[in-house]
Amino acid sequence: MSDRESIIIVGGGPVGAVAALAAAERGFRVTIVEQNADIEIDSAPRAATFHPSTLELIDEVGIIDEFIAVGLVCRYFDFWDKAAGTLVARMDHDTLRDDTPFPYVVQTEQHKLVRIALDRLRRMPDVDVRLGWSVESVDQDADRVSVRVRDGSGEQEVLTGDRLFACDGGRSTVRKSMGIDFEGYTWPERFAVLTTRNDFAAELGCSTRSYFADPDQWVNLFKVAGDDMLGRWRVVFAARPDQADEEVLGDEHAARVLSAIHPATGPRSLVHRNIYNVHQRVATRFRDGRVLLAGDAAHVNNPIGGLGLNCGVHDALELVRTVDEVSSGRADPALLDRYERRRRTINIEFVQQQTVDNKQRLEEKDPVKRRARLDRLTEISNDAQAQRRFLRRTSLLDSVARARDID
Ligand SMILES: Cc1cc2nc3c(=O)[nH]c(=O)nc-3n(C[C@H](O)[C@H](O)[C@H](O)COP(=O)(O)OP(=O)(O)OC[C@H]3O[C@@H](n4cnc5c(N)ncnc54)[C@H](O)[C@@H]3O)c2cc1C
Repeated sequence: MSDRESIIIVGGGPVGAVAALAAAERGFRVTIVEQNADIEIDSAPRAATFHPSTLELIDEVGIIDEFIAVGLVCRYFDFWDKAAGTLVARMDHDTLRDDTPFPYVVQTEQHKLVRIALDRLRRMPDVDVRLGWSVESVDQDADRVSVRVRDGSGEQEVLTGDRLFACDGGRSTVRKSMGIDFEGYTWPERFAVLTTRNDFAAELGCSTRSYFADPDQWVNLFKVAGDDMLGRWRVVFAARPDQADEEVLGDEHAARVLSAIHPATGPRSLVHRNIYNVHQRVATRFRDGRVLLAGDAAHVNNPIGGLGLNCGVHDALELVRTVDEVSSGRADPALLDRYERRRRTINIEFVQQQTVDNKQRLEEKDPVKRRARLDRLTEISNDAQAQRRFLRRTSLLDSVARARDID
């Protein structure tokens, strides 16, 4: 058995699974506790866009080839003026070819990342993968941290470890039991996702990730491979705050949303419908003694730009590297506070700021401001250096450089 520290990871979502992999590879003893017994096959549409900076980290944990093989490599992404039906800007990730070994985005559904990571973890020594177990409470003293867990049959156990990573999502039980506030707000409108077999690239000539600005009804279109690798498109849009869920997702409304994108698209092509609340929130602290927060447990944001999960994967690697330095004696335990300084700052400066800006750009109603925002995108797309600067920021490459400067 490894003589390195033991880490309990609460939550086997994408952030917990990547953190577990990174920790296990460094020889830590890892227990990953996930309440959902079917986490690997939970294919309800959630995040699917992985930016270049995150692909570098997925490479670092050794699963990049499998990950890319089940997704779509996307070199370009578009901004369209939906009201006018015109392409505003096409951004080319290849302008990042000197900045990263991955000058493209990969669109792989998040449950596939979980499946690949857990599969690898089960074959590693000193790793205990516990699916179907829920963490109910957390306790810590100067030397250890412990959690009370319960499985579906009601059986209970207490697990102890040297550290705990809270990767248990936006409603984090761990964050709440530490009494850590989740500062921010919830948008009045919910976001809906319609998944269709329609091929918008063929119908509209758009890229596999395309943002359509519209003062009345903006939409995002993006393609994922699906488990069958046959391809399908997700259509994301905001519901009006006064609309009931059934109305938003019903055939009549879906038909209106879809036919406004392309007249041939109708609800019969739909394979999935979903609606969810959208928040901009950041935990006031990312650390409480031996407990450290990562991913949605620490921060949530609207999905426009696909930054939340990417930022969570960045948290996971920063966390494991930091704990590695401290537990091996190469650094003082005070370095754990740098984890919070870095990741909290990055989330606020990049992810919160950018996702709010992305949303405002799509929904802008003032015709003068709207024109100026869209013209600016066109200008950027016509200048390779401006495009590179834009993409360095949207793909979080700049955030990696900024984090290194935070001590
Ligand atoms: C409906 C929905 C749609 C989304 N769509 C998009 C999108 O289109 N684009 C985008 O970029 N982002 C999207 N997101 C956000 C994205 O999915 C998250 O950023 C991402 O899942 C964060 O990963 P995570 O591992 O931190 O948290 P999660 O994926 O939430 O994983 C947390 C895990 O912890 C487990 N857990 C929770 N409590 C406990 C407990 N007490 N004990 C044990 N296990 C526990 C949960 O079962 C879960 O598996 C969406 C989120 C939601 C909810």
